[in-house]
Amino acid sequence: MAFKPLVFSGVQPTGNLHLGNYLGAIKKFVSLQESHDCIYCVVDLHAITVWQDPTELPRAIREVTAAFIACGIDPKKQIVFNQSQVAEHAELAWVFNCVARLGWLNRMTQFKEKAGKDRENASVGLYAYPALMAADILVYRATHVPVGEDQKQHLELSRDIAQKFNNDFITSIAARGFDDAFFPLPEPLIQGPATRVMSLRDGTRKMSKSEPSDQSRINLTDDADTIALKIRRAKTDPDALPSDEKGLENRPEADNLVGIYAALADHSKADVLKQFGGAQFSTFKNALVELTVAKLSPINAEMRRLVADPPHIDAVLADGSSRAQVLAADTMKGVKDIVGLVRR
Ligand code: ATP
Ligand code: MG
Repeated sequence: MAFKPLVFSGVQPTGNLHLGNYLGAIKKFVSLQESHDCIYCVVDLHAITVWQDPTELPRAIREVTAAFIACGIDPKKQIVFNQSQVAEHAELAWVFNCVARLGWLNRMTQFKEKAGKDRENASVGLYAYPALMAADILVYRATHVPVGEDQKQHLELSRDIAQKFNNDFITSIAARGFDDAFFPLPEPLIQGPATRVMSLRDGTRKMSKSEPSDQSRINLTDDADTIALKIRRAKTDPDALPSDEKGLENRPEADNLVGIYAALADHSKADVLKQFGGAQFSTFKNALVELTVAKLSPINAEMRRLVADPPHIDAVLADGSSRAQVLAADTMKGVKDIVGLVRR
């Protein structure tokens, strides 16, 4: 069966949005609007899989919403909302908890990293996170999911869940007239030079909201001086920049900064190295500061303007949630009929 192309993705309101979120995800959300219908979600139910201060969480939800809009997502043309306002996400996640296998979830590296050594003390929600993520996507029967490289494994699990649901219920799906597949197998969109932006302090670690050191990341809310300071202090090696991509091998910090420059400038890494090959890092960092400030300043200013008006943000989320819910409720009706749950 051919599914209508539809883009879905989400960002957690877990703290400071950073350059990795922008280049790996939100910048792509913006360009996909040109070619696709898109649903962009502030995934607050994912955020609470680790502790969130209830006095801080509403601000974080509104800030991610503001970032979506400030970066260029049009909430009138597309759907922008927060996950907890559409209960069908959690409802479908339960069904998927019953489809996914323990063995599948046991392989998830994000759980291992986030749970750390004290795994017994991690929340059940953190463990079941990928089943909720599959529900987020599939409750809209979305076909394309722009994400950073770190989410590749979860996307593969979403495909496995969709496939197993389609197989387990094949007879019931056909009996309800849904052709041979009820859910599409969603495709990850992970492309370009910045699918995994690394920490500025350690080229082997991902830039993350939840990393304690603020020096490790560039926040979308950082001002020009802070951005300049963080980039100038970013870890590098003593050599000059290479003139081709092969020369970036085993130089994770150099590779990271070149990738950031390339993504911000909409060039390839090869193009950036043609321009800066042979240059010292001091020279390259100056150019990177200038480019980063030029790209992030307007976003930063617009985010500030938007977060100063919480009722406006809340109205955007309420409108998006109502539109999303119509679609999600329709999928849930189908799911209930297929599984055999009696409904009104
Ligand atoms: P947390 O540390 O709380 O998990 P996060 O920084 O990983 O926060 P998420 O909200 O989990 O942010 O992810 C939102 C989107 O940003 C996802 O598509 C994710 O793949 C992408 N992303 C996150 N970090 C990076 C990064 N360093 N480089 C590229 N993309 C990233
Ligand atoms: Mg994450």
